[in-house]
Amino acid sequence: MSKELIYGLTFEQLAAYLMKFGHKKYRALQVWDWLYRKKATQFSEMADVHIDCIELLTDHFVINSLREYERQESEDGTVKFLLKLRDEHLIETVLMRHKFGLSVCVTTQVGCNMGCSFCASGLLIKNRDLFAGEIVEQIMAVQEYLKRSNQQELISHVVVMGIGEPFDNFSNVVNAIRIIKDHKGLAIPARHITVSTSGLADRIYQFADENLQVNLAISLHAPTNELRSQIMKINRSFSIQSIMEALDYYRQKTKRRVTLEYILLKDLNDKREHALQIAELIGEKKQLINVNLIPYNPVEEHPQYQRSEHEVMLAFYDTLKKQGINCSIRLEHGADIDAACGQLRSKHSHCRS
Ligand code: SAH
Ligand code: SF4
Repeated sequence: MSKELIYGLTFEQLAAYLMKFGHKKYRALQVWDWLYRKKATQFSEMADVHIDCIELLTDHFVINSLREYERQESEDGTVKFLLKLRDEHLIETVLMRHKFGLSVCVTTQVGCNMGCSFCASGLLIKNRDLFAGEIVEQIMAVQEYLKRSNQQELISHVVVMGIGEPFDNFSNVVNAIRIIKDHKGLAIPARHITVSTSGLADRIYQFADENLQVNLAISLHAPTNELRSQIMKINRSFSIQSIMEALDYYRQKTKRRVTLEYILLKDLNDKREHALQIAELIGEKKQLINVNLIPYNPVEEHPQYQRSEHEVMLAFYDTLKKQGINCSIRLEHGADIDAACGQLRSKHSHCRS
């Protein structure tokens, strides 16, 4: 049986494990410090940890499981990593540079079952969920790359927006977030972590109850059920209204603003009437909801979808602003590399088949 990933254990799970084998709780603090502060890549580096404890960990766990398979570096500093899992599957992780710091976009599943008709990730049905440790390790792998290339900065933000639907891998994503935000380790604050979902309304309630206090983004992409069901199958199970109700609950429970993501698709959802419908949907909650407009990254396999013209995007933005909606247009990262989530991986998957 292959060894477990140490990055997949929350601090409490690690402490319980070590105590079960007769170690004191402070050993977990030491190990945790070596893993996340000193960034040890081998248990044998943990100089002040008792040898019995090192042996126990070495026998049962591994620290690193991901291998870099390909890396693309963009002119704007965005770096896209294609990483190989222990079972040879490929996933994508992206490093982005912003004025406010460094963010990493992590993948949660190998493929995605939601089948949104514009998305490259949905082209490949889900092969498996990632373990919590594989989600956390993506951040450690990017941090290691920065160290290797003599960049001292620490990753300050995490977006759960890579391949996969996070709420279709609920417990692993929740555990990974607990590990990432733990102040004894990576200590990335909850307000710097954003989870994006295609809108599994029942899981939004469950997620609110986990009390993680992270930002939540919903892939809306259409203002009416009729249009949304055409492009996102998931809308046939959870209507826009059911999502908006779940968002009310999330906001009340966490006091966090939520974001509606909206890809602008040429001649499909980018008309003035669509912007007005979004404003209507938001109604009185203008202070509580942001809209993030996303330029579409064309996907070869989905030629029916094109990016809206720049002027059309600006006009859409203006209409929303005039309705008093908090709104932004997402800056593009890595426009010169395979930028859209799932694109690099889907290219390789085709090559291999
Ligand atoms: N499954 C989750 C998170 C991963 S997708 C979700 O759907 O929210 C992250 C974001 O990228 C989503 O808003 C998704 O709709 C968007 N996206 C997918 N394909 C895209 C493309 N080709 N161009 C631009 N955005 C895309
Ligand atoms: Fe899956 Fe999100 Fe892509 Fe939809 S947009 S197929 S939910 S990754």
